[in-house]
Amino acid sequence: MIDQKKLLNGSRVASEIRAEVAEDVRTLEGGGVTPRLDVVLVGADPASQVYVRSKAKTSAELGMRSETHTLPSDTAQSELEDLIDRLNDDDEVDGVLVQLPLPRGIESTSILDRIDPAKDVDGFHPVNVGLLQQGRPRLVPCTPAGVMELLRREEIDLKGRRAVVVGRSDIVGKPMAMLLLHAHATVTLCHSRTRDLASVTREAEILVVAAGQRTLIGAEHVSEGAVVIDVGMHRVTDRSVVEDLYPGNEKKLAAFEKNGAVLCGDVDTTRVAPIAGRITPVPGGVGPLTIAMLMANTARAARLRRGQGS
Ligand code: NAP
Repeated sequence: MIDQKKLLNGSRVASEIRAEVAEDVRTLEGGGVTPRLDVVLVGADPASQVYVRSKAKTSAELGMRSETHTLPSDTAQSELEDLIDRLNDDDEVDGVLVQLPLPRGIESTSILDRIDPAKDVDGFHPVNVGLLQQGRPRLVPCTPAGVMELLRREEIDLKGRRAVVVGRSDIVGKPMAMLLLHAHATVTLCHSRTRDLASVTREAEILVVAAGQRTLIGAEHVSEGAVVIDVGMHRVTDRSVVEDLYPGNEKKLAAFEKNGAVLCGDVDTTRVAPIAGRITPVPGGVGPLTIAMLMANTARAARLRRGQGS
């Protein structure tokens, strides 16, 4: 069993952030502004539908307005572009988010580039990416922003420390590395061509893993006392895999029996936790922070668009 004192409780931090955003929304409302998030879903991918519903529900819980625009999977690129243009031009709309992945046939980059950078609550537009790189972040991608909030609120010192990020996606790995760098960590960024990954990750005092490979990181990858942040998210539907991942863990097996699946990350938590100083669980670690930061970005966009805040 994992020592509970080691766990970094993302769910708790996410609920703190949501409460702060709800308070901010109340203040904005006092000034006649109700932040509004518009989410665009193209096609009927079940996972995307779940994410989009949860974004709309959380927006409502925090007092924000939210609209979901659902388009069929055979939507033409030009139709989607027209919708983005309309949302960009609509002064009522503060945040525009296009749920990824988009169906084949739609060119994602040009769609994301079309979103008004002031409404780009995912932080994927080149203008926001550039501002982050220059150390003057405006709207920052939600998952790495959530990891930084977790580290800050758990008072994990980053200055001068060795941080290793596994994964170099535009959504997680690269912005994560940039945020850690701006927080004065010494950062190494790894990817699928990195040679002898374990020798690099063992250097880490802070290890962030976003590779999308189940249990990529085992005990041999981690040094004693390291802070391990597991961004990965995988649905395990095979009982023998669950037994191997969580030997003797009756709670996990019961959850598997009940739901037909359990979630795990890119880190073999059972074997890594005894070595790590702190570690995020999956679920209950990074996942809840991502949506909390989306809400924070929407409130922030509402303010910035009205010349409030910097
Ligand atoms: P991605 O776009 O597929 O990128 C994966 C990155 O990992 C790539 O840079 C890839 O290297 C690297 N990689 C793959 N295999 C590797 C290996 N064996 N050794 C070292 N590096 C390796 O994935 P992503 O969008 O960043 O997401 C990563 C994971 O985080 C996924 O499991 C995803 O579901 C999860 N996620 C969770 C949340 C959340 O809210 N919890 C949010 C976003 C993503 P190359 O560049 O060389 O291909």
